[in-house]
Amino acid sequence: MNKIQELAPHIAYCGLDCSGCEVYQATAFDDDGLRQNYANKVKLQWKIEVDPASVNCHGCRDTRPKSGFCASCEVRQCAAERGLENCAPCEDYGCEKLQKVHAAMINVGKAVDGIATASINLDTIRNDMGLT
Ligand code: SF4
Ligand code: SF4
Repeated sequence: MNKIQELAPHIAYCGLDCSGCEVYQATAFDDDGLRQNYANKVKLQWKIEVDPASVNCHGCRDTRPKSGFCASCEVRQCAAERGLENCAPCEDYGCEKLQKVHAAMINVGKAVDGIATASINLDTIRNDMGLT
């Protein structure tokens, strides 16, 4: 088992497991090589210049600043304001904000069979809670 596989899951408000995110991994291990790899990937795939020193995130539910897409995420703000651990138990589950975030994740390949893995994770949590 490599060190990345040893990371505990950190389930975000949207259902994403932050432990699978390169930014979270680089931060968790304070690894400048992983930061550089992420910056290289973003430049190659999306033609966006990222300063490796800015590649830091302690996970969605941590209150420290976020980078990239997560920095301005409406789902995070909404679920935090509602005092929820994640969107699964929300009475408005499946709202437009959540659907938009999951659609964006499908577009960057964080999906299985066309369904965002974050959505699959939330459905599992809802099932475990008896909400489906
Ligand atoms: S998309 Fe939003 S809710 Fe999901 S991990 Fe990023 S900040 Fe958190
Ligand atoms: S309204 Fe939508 S984004 Fe906000 S907590 Fe509920 S499901 Fe999540």
